[in-house]
Amino acid sequence: MKVDVDAHPTAGEVPPAPDRAALVSLGSTFRGELIGPRSASYHERRKVWNGSVDRRPVLIARCTGASDVVAALAFARRTDLPLAVRGGGHSFPGFSVCDRGIVIDLGPMKGIRLDPDAGTVHAQAGVLLGELDSATQAYGLAVPLGSVTHTGLAGLTLGGGFGWLMRKHGLTIDQLLSVRIVTADGELVTASEDENADLFWGVRGGGGNFGIVTSFEFRLHAIGPTIQSGLLFWPLDDGPEVVRFYRDWASSAPDELTTVLVLRRAPAVELVPKELHGKPVVGVGSCWAGPLDGGERALEPMRRFGRAAVDLSAPRAFVEHQALFDSSFPHGLWVYSKATDVAALSDDVLAVAFEHAGRITSPRSTITAWQLGGAVARVGEFETPFGSRSSGHLVDILGATDTPEGFEQERDWARACWTDFAPHHVGVYVNWLMEEGEERVRQAYGEERYDRLKALKRRYDPENVFRLNQNIRPD
Ligand SMILES: Cc1cc2nc3c(=O)[nH]c(=O)nc-3n(C[C@H](O)[C@H](O)[C@H](O)COP(=O)(O)OP(=O)(O)OC[C@H]3O[C@@H](n4cnc5c(N)ncnc54)[C@H](O)[C@@H]3O)c2cc1C
Repeated sequence: MKVDVDAHPTAGEVPPAPDRAALVSLGSTFRGELIGPRSASYHERRKVWNGSVDRRPVLIARCTGASDVVAALAFARRTDLPLAVRGGGHSFPGFSVCDRGIVIDLGPMKGIRLDPDAGTVHAQAGVLLGELDSATQAYGLAVPLGSVTHTGLAGLTLGGGFGWLMRKHGLTIDQLLSVRIVTADGELVTASEDENADLFWGVRGGGGNFGIVTSFEFRLHAIGPTIQSGLLFWPLDDGPEVVRFYRDWASSAPDELTTVLVLRRAPAVELVPKELHGKPVVGVGSCWAGPLDGGERALEPMRRFGRAAVDLSAPRAFVEHQALFDSSFPHGLWVYSKATDVAALSDDVLAVAFEHAGRITSPRSTITAWQLGGAVARVGEFETPFGSRSSGHLVDILGATDTPEGFEQERDWARACWTDFAPHHVGVYVNWLMEEGEERVRQAYGEERYDRLKALKRRYDPENVFRLNQNIRPD
């Protein structure tokens, strides 16, 4: 164990030191690193992905394993400090860091144990999506995950986990076989279909409300290693025609094809020609999770439609495809998200989207719509807490800037756009919520699932120890 809580002076406000006796007691068993406000790495370690979040905990406990998690949780309970739990730190509202509390940081927990014969993989809670993909793709296997490789596996899984393989194989939670989880009373238990089945139901979408997951066990699927990857951009002026074509093409596509529609200014990245940088565009991304030649045929109609300004479609290594959007979402981006599900990309929905897409000023802001259906919709509505199975598309309106400059304007843009979508709201993905209050969390789950989650919360966390999340209140 390395205690480094007093080494260097810190800039700015210093939160009060935690109870010394409790800290000494923690230090006697903790194997990882304990970082306080005067530690050299404090300011680096308190950062989360969303650059607009600036909070100062009294202690960051960098855990190396389940016993560290148990010890850090006991410390938090003994001192009654606010408790934030961090996987990859990508929560939009920044729930994985807090003011004047403790952060249980699972980042160092990177273990991955793969059993290709059984078709399963165990991954610890500090693993990032790209790390898991690299390990599984070495065997031509994959767990369906999200679309940006530096996102944390833990938070993504606990909220549901949509991504490029979802229409073929389902959400990330649909692959989950078991978890090891430390409950509020400090017990490390297994939750699966056979053991603590109620808890297992809750963690497949109910977020971090019921405990701290230390590891996940997933079912694997054969993927790639080369897949047919599609990325097309048209000028926004061609948008309405393109999107009407897209709507028909995507809705009749087989489950192998998962697609996303993106409205934004073209990113200034290497893959996009310079003359298009910063210009308003409509983009269609796609991934074909099947034999390569079938993918080429499936993509062909969309590639041939209109005059695509950029066509980056090609057979790609699956891990490369998974990283296609990484450079659009760097660490430290100032971000405000407003999300909604819609039943369909009706003409009215598209009219709202295009009106507001035309007003985007920041090259970082986006409207994205991920197409659901396929395997996602074939899992029963109440088999997991995930509330969007019967929605048509997950829509996210992301106001984003590289620095504080212009951020408020993008936030206002996102809010205004979302408000105009209101007649079409049919739900919302819980992992895309900001800190928006209980009503919105209820909307994410729907009444029946929310009531069941509440009963589970009363059983497993009646004192609401785990509340820095999309909170399901026990009372
Ligand atoms: C750039 C970017 C791209 C994204 N793309 C996708 C996507 O393609 N698909 C998708 O489904 N979502 C996507 N998301 C949303 C993502 O699922 C959430 O932001 C998710 O919460 C990130 O998990 P994390 O571990 O990185 O976050 P963290 O901020 O570490 O945690 C998020 C929440 O989960 C809790 N938590 C984390 N780890 C644990 C644990 N082990 N036990 C209990 N509670 C825990 C935290 O306390 C916090 O409340 C994206 C987000 C970003 C920022």
